[in-house]
Amino acid sequence: MTASQTPAFQHYINGAETPPASGQYFETQSPYTGKTWGLVARGSAADVDAAVAAAHAAFQDGPWSRLSATERGRLLYRVAELLRRDAEKLAAVEMRDNGKLAGEVTSQVRYVAEYFQYYAGLADKVQSHVIPTDKKGVTCFTRYEAKGVAAIITPWNSPLTLTSWKLAPALAAGCTTVIKPSEFTSPSAVVFAQLFKEAGFPDGVVNVVTGFGSEVGNSLVEHPDVAHVGFTGGEAAGCAIYQAAAKGLKTVTLELGGKSPNIVFDDANLDQAVKGVVAGIFAAAGQTCIAGSRLLVQRSIHDEFVGRLIELVKDAKLGDPEDPTTQIGPIATRPQFEKISSYLEIARQEGATCVLGGRTRPDLGAGWFVEPTIFTNVHNGMRIAQEEVFGPVLSVIPFDDEADAIRIANDVLYGLAAGVWTRSLHRSLLMSEKLRAGTVWINNYRSTSFTTPFGGYKRSGIGRESGTEAVMEYLKTKSVWMSSDLDLPNPFVKR
Ligand code: NAD
Repeated sequence: MTASQTPAFQHYINGAETPPASGQYFETQSPYTGKTWGLVARGSAADVDAAVAAAHAAFQDGPWSRLSATERGRLLYRVAELLRRDAEKLAAVEMRDNGKLAGEVTSQVRYVAEYFQYYAGLADKVQSHVIPTDKKGVTCFTRYEAKGVAAIITPWNSPLTLTSWKLAPALAAGCTTVIKPSEFTSPSAVVFAQLFKEAGFPDGVVNVVTGFGSEVGNSLVEHPDVAHVGFTGGEAAGCAIYQAAAKGLKTVTLELGGKSPNIVFDDANLDQAVKGVVAGIFAAAGQTCIAGSRLLVQRSIHDEFVGRLIELVKDAKLGDPEDPTTQIGPIATRPQFEKISSYLEIARQEGATCVLGGRTRPDLGAGWFVEPTIFTNVHNGMRIAQEEVFGPVLSVIPFDDEADAIRIANDVLYGLAAGVWTRSLHRSLLMSEKLRAGTVWINNYRSTSFTTPFGGYKRSGIGRESGTEAVMEYLKTKSVWMSSDLDLPNPFVKR
């Protein structure tokens, strides 16, 4: 591809593709070929100012500010329809950039449509309350009002999904938005934003500024007209965003990843458990925040279960994400590939035993491939058991009984999710109560839905996405006191 053939992706500001103020672009690569396939506008504070100004104007005075909740819902519904129409086109852009398997990305984008449909329905069902009070002669009620301009900052692993987890409830609430996609996977957000114009959204409601965290992300978080920041990504960026938002007294929702335990008891249906554990860690080559990266397995079935895992995974086909026979795609970015490679070495140095995989595959594509890897002889104090690898690397840790499993499962800084495999009802309930995680799956793993709150305990984050709770993150509560026959006393007369 020559430079002139390389497509260039602009910002999307106030309903129009907008070149960067600086005139600069950066390259975006395919993780499979390692080759540049697109140029992306390199945003700066000037572009952020323009996007926030458009979003702020749309929120304050534009046609959006005069729409009823039902009318907002109707527009969101139209986006759902357009997403279904364009799912394959959007998936092709996303797959090119992050290397996820074609089928997986297409079904993810189709599922994004379901989020918009859900929040389309929810928009006019957020009901406030009339509150009985101790004061006679007044009626007190609440109003839920949109916070204002919401900044949406996303990572590279599931770009459109993680954008929509924030965007759909923000729009249902009546906010306007500025999206900052990951610098590794920006084009899909720009293509996606254009659907909102077609759906009938007024200009300025959905804006996209592409670029780097240190140039666009921080300007956006610090901008005085941004009221809320919805973020998914790594812990370091999440903490930096939380600190910057605190200076402006902005609210945040942060989804920061995890080190989730998948716990298999000896009474489990092992045929099911083995599939759940494999999907939990090797789907999307382990590049998911909910990856079940610690397998806690009851000591009595340890060897049998590890054998079953190896049997299921050993022939998995690595390769081109566009090839429908491929089962594991490449790592999405070079820095992430290098990070995972370093953990393979760390695990060996710590004394873990590699029983499957453990190698990178320079012979495939651009070489950003890591074999599905299983380490045994891991104890929970090792770095490989404590730190988020964000790759296809499973650490196996034996446990003796329920108390031991709970102790090990909770003994990490994170608390995003946990899986439990057992036939015992009592044990299921006990584990769901004792595990310090925002999601607990019993006899399944990785289930998520637009209906169901999702978020972290501990260092896995703050706030909830999906379900009715997500829309509340983008609203603030106003209490209104109305006097009917309140006899106001003279303030200067002592009673
Ligand atoms: P990151 O956290 O560095 O970046 C995520 C987004 O935040 C990007 O859009 C980035 O440009 C932006 N950003 C970075 N620093 C910022 C700042 N100071 N202010 C505002 N915005 C900022 O994530 P990454 O580089 O994509 O990956 C780093 C690590 O994060 C990975 O190795 C992985 O462990 C983890 N991660 C977690 C998730 C998740 O779903 N929780 C997703 C992707 C990556």
